[in-house]
Amino acid sequence: MRFDVMTLFPDMVRGVLDESIIGRAQTAGIIEVECHNIRDFSSDKHRKTDDTPFGGGVGMVMTCQPILDCYASVKEKISPDAKTRVIYMSPKGAIFNHDAAKRLAEYDNLIFLCGHYEGVDQRVIDSIVDEEISIGDYVVTGGEIPACIVIDAVSRLKEGVLAAKECYEGESVASGILEYPQYTKPRVYNGMEVPEVLLSGDHKKIDRWRLEMAVEITRERRPDMLAQHPEYEEMLKPKVKKRKTRSKVSEQ
Ligand code: SAH
Repeated sequence: MRFDVMTLFPDMVRGVLDESIIGRAQTAGIIEVECHNIRDFSSDKHRKTDDTPFGGGVGMVMTCQPILDCYASVKEKISPDAKTRVIYMSPKGAIFNHDAAKRLAEYDNLIFLCGHYEGVDQRVIDSIVDEEISIGDYVVTGGEIPACIVIDAVSRLKEGVLAAKECYEGESVASGILEYPQYTKPRVYNGMEVPEVLLSGDHKKIDRWRLEMAVEITRERRPDMLAQHPEYEEMLKPKVKKRKTRSKVSEQ
C-alpha cells in the first residue's frame, strides 16, 4: 500500500513514520510513504504558498496553485488502475475511528493533504478531495500529525506490519470493546503484584478473567461501546454453554 503526503513540512511526517513498526514496514516494502513538499511547486518567485483571506480575518490561507500542481505531480507517479482516495485532514471532517481505518486499508493508494495556518483555499477541496477526516474535536496546528495518525492506524492493519493478526484483533476498539489490563515481568514490582490468575497456567480461567476485566473496564469507561456489543456480557452469563462461549472468545 502506498501513502502520498502533500505537506509544507515533510520532515514532520518522515520523523514520525520512519521510526519503529511503521518504519520497519517501509523497509520491508509492505507500505510505501512518499512526502511531497508543496513549497517545491510554488510558481511564486519567493516560493510563497499562502495568502491573506478574502473577506478579511486573521491568519493565512494556503493557496490553490502550489497544492494543485503538487497533486498533478503525485498523480503522475500513481498507476491509473490503483484504487486511490484523496483525503484532507481537517477538524471539519468525519471523526476518524477503527471502522474508517479498516475501510481505508482497502485502497491501494491514499493521498493526504495537510493544511497549515488557517487551512486551504476551499477550491482545492472542491476540486481534488474525496473526503475530509478529523482526528477529534480539537484543533492542532497542522494536518501532518493527523495524517501520521491515520497512516499509522491503517498500516498496522496491513498483513505483515504486526507480527501476527492476533496482535490487533483482540485489541481495544478493534474487538468492539476495550482491552483487559496487561502485565509483564517481574511478578512483584515495588510491592505491586501481578494478578494471581495470570500465573496459574489455566488458560480457561485466564480467558475468563480477561473477558471479565474487558467488560468491566468498558462498562466503566465506554458504556456506549458495550451497548453495541451485548455478546460480551452474554458470554459471562453462567447459562451460556461453555463450548459456545469459548469459541466466541477466541474468534474475537
Ligand atoms: N481554520 C481551520 C483550522 C486550521 S488548523 C478551522 O477552523 O477549521 C490548520 C490545519 O491543521 C488544518 O488545515 C488541518 O489540516 C489541520 N487540523 C487541525 N485540526 C485538525 C483535526 N482535528 N483533525 C485533522 N486535521 C486537523
